[in-house]
Order: sequence, then structure tokens, then C-alpha cells
Amino acid sequence: MEQHSQQFKENAANALADAGGVAQRDILALFTPIMRDAAVAEFGPYEALRQHVKRVRQHSLDNLDYYLARFELEATNNGNQVHYADSADEMNSIVLDICQQHGARKVAKGKSMVTEETGLNDYLQRGGLQVMETDLGEYIVQQAGETPSHIVGPALHKTRDQIRELFLDKHDLGERELESISDLVGEARVVLRDHFLQAEVGIIGSNALIAENGYSMLVTNEGNGDLCANLPNVLIICTTLDRVLPRAEDATAIQRLLVRSATGQPHTCYTSFYSGPRRAEDADGPLETHIILLDNHRTDILASDYSDMLRCIRCGSCLNHCPIFAATGGHAYGWVYPGPMGSVLTPLLTSLEASAALPNACTSCGRCAEVCPSAIPLPDMLRDLRHEQSVEKITPASWRQGLRLHAWLACRPGLYQFLTGIGIAVMHRIGRKKGGFRSLPLAGGWTSKRDFPSPQGKTFMQQYRQRSRSNEQ
Ligand code: SF4
Repeated sequence: MEQHSQQFKENAANALADAGGVAQRDILALFTPIMRDAAVAEFGPYEALRQHVKRVRQHSLDNLDYYLARFELEATNNGNQVHYADSADEMNSIVLDICQQHGARKVAKGKSMVTEETGLNDYLQRGGLQVMETDLGEYIVQQAGETPSHIVGPALHKTRDQIRELFLDKHDLGERELESISDLVGEARVVLRDHFLQAEVGIIGSNALIAENGYSMLVTNEGNGDLCANLPNVLIICTTLDRVLPRAEDATAIQRLLVRSATGQPHTCYTSFYSGPRRAEDADGPLETHIILLDNHRTDILASDYSDMLRCIRCGSCLNHCPIFAATGGHAYGWVYPGPMGSVLTPLLTSLEASAALPNACTSCGRCAEVCPSAIPLPDMLRDLRHEQSVEKITPASWRQGLRLHAWLACRPGLYQFLTGIGIAVMHRIGRKKGGFRSLPLAGGWTSKRDFPSPQGKTFMQQYRQRSRSNEQ
């Protein structure tokens, strides 16, 4: 998928100018945290399980080579063909090769952020294949020619009316109204059913790979993943090598946190475990199964100071609780992964330069770290990325010099308080009549959108000392 992260500021400004989109995001930002909080409150051992999952994920990553080898052995014993792909292009070409070997023309695809990362759909379509997304949200954005705006709800940015218009425009099904949500879902089901039945290859993602038995776990709400996995003769599971876990019970522990954090449900409708191709005694299932394990810089991340990021289970909770994501929406981030997790992951998977704006799209409120089920210290990592930008001179020279001056002053509290005391007194004198400033030198980013309130006349430290003295008297 093409990257536009460098244009975050322009993208965000455009998103904020769209009143309908802002209203839609305000509703989501209100309700998604309420649903998650209710699910967590109702689930007693949340914090204990969170710490357990953190340890399990960390242990798996610390011993990744061992668990990957074990997973490969068990999965191969189950009849799967396991492939490793270093890069996005390599994964795409493995998938295309498999499709071509089987003379496939149609592919039914389940939701997979990994294949968004590699741009698989475009690649296969250029190879002459018809690829149909079968997750409802993914299907909607595919029909609209858009990309997902959220890692869990790809079409959360669309209203019911917009989806109705889209279906009436794209589906050649004659006169109908599509008044209700169930009408819309029913229509998508009719269109997708044919594709499920005709596709020669199914592609799905994976939420966890289980080393002890070579199984792959998939969590969905629509059951489309199971249809993609079981109806076509060939199944391809596209995932990343950091998904591997030691035991089946580790995968179910993650499932219990993932679902509550993502949608506030106690369970999703479908949690499936795929072992391999159809056995003689099975009534159905694919005849051939492939599992492709993508690296695409993950082993670099593992060896870096940002390895905690690989614990991410893609629940989307940090997005739902982020004030920046709520204001701008996911498309502003300009690539596959938006919100706080994307602001860390995108620079690591692409380049710090190409996504320089993202680590700065943060208010440091800390909500993302509080709600992350894998206890990933997202704000710390965003701060470290900003530090790296400064060290590597990616941030503008004026900004770096300003920060250096600020740091120099902050290390000299007497001088700092003296100078800020003068500055505040001057601003108070100039601004007190109007109550604020329309513009200020060095603060254009602030005053271009709002007035800067006139200071009350004393700095925080002056007021603090004054009050301490009067409390002592
Ligand atoms: S960083 Fe944490 S909260 Fe965000 S998607 Fe990953 S696991 Fe969920």
C-alpha cells in the first residue's frame, strides 16, 4: 500500500474540515471506550491476564527461533506447506505462484492487515486474478476504492447512507430500497455468496500460531474467514512470524483479551483453529494449505529497542482511546496502521523519515498505554522515536535549536524563572485589555487556530511561592 504518512498534517486538516466525518468519529470516540471499559469491568481477572499475556508474548519473542522451528515442524506434519517471506514482494509473489499453479481466477479473501501491508490485492489483480474481500467492512472499502480506516473496523468511517449509496451504485441488482442495516448486510451476503462458491483459492490472516500443534487461530465476527478457509480447494494463511505462541492455551488467553479490548464483547462469534488440509475422514475443507510467515523488518524490530511493539495483538484499543485518532480518523496516518500503534509501527516498518510526522501526532496523555492489553509502553516509544528524529537531524534545525535552548534554560532554574517572569509580565501588560492574542511570534501553530489567552500576570512558580508563604502565616 502506498504511503502518505509524510502528509499527516494536510490529511488531518482535510479530515477536520469534513463536518460529517468529525461527527461520526465523535460518536465512535464516545462509545468504543465505554464498551471496552464495561467488558473489562465485568471480567474480573483482567489485569492478571494482561500481565500473563505480556509475559507469554515476551517469552515467545525472546525464544522466537525455537518456537518458529517447532511450529514449522508441527504444521508440516499436519500437511501444511510453510513458507518464509523476507519482504512484502516476496510474500505477494509466493501467493501469486500458488494461485497460478492451480490455474486460479478467483480469490476469496478474509480480513488481513498483513496483506494490506504488502499490497497483495493490487499485486494479484495485476497478475490477472479477481480478488474479493469478504469481511463486510473490507468489502465496503474495496467497493469504494478506499483503504481501511481502522485495524478492526475497516469501514467505521462510513455512514449507513454512504454504504447504501455505494451498494446501489455498484451492485446491478435492480429496483430495491436498502432501507435497513439488515437489507445492506443481506445484499452484501448475496453478492459474496457466489464468490465464495466460485473461488479456487481462499486467503486469510491469523491471530496466533501455536507451536505445540502447528495450528493457526483466527478470530472473526462474521464467519467469512471460515468460508474462505473451507470452501476453496486451496487455503493460504498470510501472517507474520511474530504471531507464534508456545501453547494452545496461550492463544485462547490472547483471544479473551483481544475481544474485550477490540469490541467490548466477551467472545467473538467465531474463533477457529486451522490444522491443515482435509483429512480422509473430514467432510470438507481445503485440499492444500499454505502458511506464509512474513518478516518485513520484524526481526530488525526484535533486535532493536522497540521490540515491545511486537507484543501488539492488533486489538485497536489504543486507536479507540486516542484523542488524535478521534479527531483525524485513520486515513490521516497515510498507511496501513493508524493511531498510537501505527505511529510507532509505521516508522519501524517503513522509515522514520517517511513517517516523521507520526511520532509527533501525540498529546502524551498516556491513555493508549493504560488500555493496551499487551502493556506496550506506546508513549515512551513515541518519545524515543522523536528523540531519534532529533539525533538523526530529521526534525527541522530551528526546532532542534529551540529545544536545545529550552533544555539549557531548564537546567538553570534561577535564570529560567527570571526570564519567564519577565515574559509573562510583559504579555500580561500587553494582552490584558483584549484578554488574549490573535498571533504570537514562535506560536503560529497555536494562534492560527485559536487565541492565546493573556497570562494572569505571574508565573506558576511565583504563584506557588506566594501561596506557600501565605499558608505558612
Ligand atoms: S498497541 Fe496495544 S492497544 Fe494498540 S492495537 Fe496493539 S495491543 Fe491493541
